[in-house]
Amino acid sequence: MNRLSEGRRRLQEQGFLLLSEAIERARTIAICAHMSPDGDALGSELSLAAIIRERWPEKQVRCLLAEAKEVPRHLRFLPMVEELEVPAGADEAPDLFLAVDLSVAARLAEARALMERSREVFVIDHHPTEHPFGNGAIMRPDAAACGVVVLEYALYLDVRVTRDVAMLLFCAIMTDTGRFQYQNANAEAFWAASKLVAAGADPSVVALNVYQSMRLSYLRLESVVMGRITTKMGGRLAYSWVLWEDFEATGAGEDESEGLVDIVRCVEGAEIALLLRQTPEGAIRGNLRSKGAIDVSGVATGLGGGGHAAAAGFTLGKVSLEEAKQIVLPRLEALLLEE
Ligand code: 5GP
Ligand code: MN
Repeated sequence: MNRLSEGRRRLQEQGFLLLSEAIERARTIAICAHMSPDGDALGSELSLAAIIRERWPEKQVRCLLAEAKEVPRHLRFLPMVEELEVPAGADEAPDLFLAVDLSVAARLAEARALMERSREVFVIDHHPTEHPFGNGAIMRPDAAACGVVVLEYALYLDVRVTRDVAMLLFCAIMTDTGRFQYQNANAEAFWAASKLVAAGADPSVVALNVYQSMRLSYLRLESVVMGRITTKMGGRLAYSWVLWEDFEATGAGEDESEGLVDIVRCVEGAEIALLLRQTPEGAIRGNLRSKGAIDVSGVATGLGGGGHAAAAGFTLGKVSLEEAKQIVLPRLEALLLEE
């Protein structure tokens, strides 16, 4: 059985050809993923750099972070992570800028200016976006993770999938599918995982670092979030929240809070899970998850964010927690009423 339909495969190969041509035209290449990077963002970015170097050793490839923030704790074990640099000075402009795991320019944050100065821009992504930025793009919204597309590219180029590349891509797919448990965990994701384990990825090492190495302070924060879980709509909507003072009280860091929404989604019968999280700047960041067929991306987009049907996010600037609840909860209740 084919993992991709013939039409999609042809489209993807056309994209890969254009990407290879863009790489061949370039001498200097910068790769960057989205702000608040997750396992798919960093795994896809770093492995793509390794793959390009393997095929085109003469190219100068750099890996950028979208923001001058530390790499999240649970991802610091990744191979090549020490290569990640904060956005370069205003005088620099790469020949080619590769944006991975995002297709909305705002999510490049501080790296956006560099992208705009680059001679060419190419996007490789799996978010549902009709109009990605850039001169060229490979968009695979049916792919579980951007890492699946990067693996396809490595196989297309026929380059060696090293152990490091396999670890990076396995982490990308494992995290974006919630350990192969979310609705996007399709046959292609398992096909890719199998290839990567055969190439040397160790799932237990990824799981140990990402899911079984929490600091006690983070677990205390989790228990605060768990204690606050509230349900509405007869249990169909579950939400909880974290205030900045909770981070201070527990000693947990903002960079280890990405998984908190997974606590909320555990509630039996909940169809939508929401976590509201206050940032040190006084904004409220929202993580939305759908456990079934409901598409939460529209609500996220309506609030200035975006994402997938089953996992989306947004940021509300300068609002209190109460205001944020008043803005977000009625939209989710309306969405549930439509079903
Ligand atoms: P998370 O809730 O884990 O931050 O994000 C879930 C999904 O939604 C991810 O695929 C992420 O890329 C996307 N997403 C989160 N926040 C935003 C946002 O502010 N804008 C856009 N366009 N996508 C977002
Ligand atoms: Mn992703």
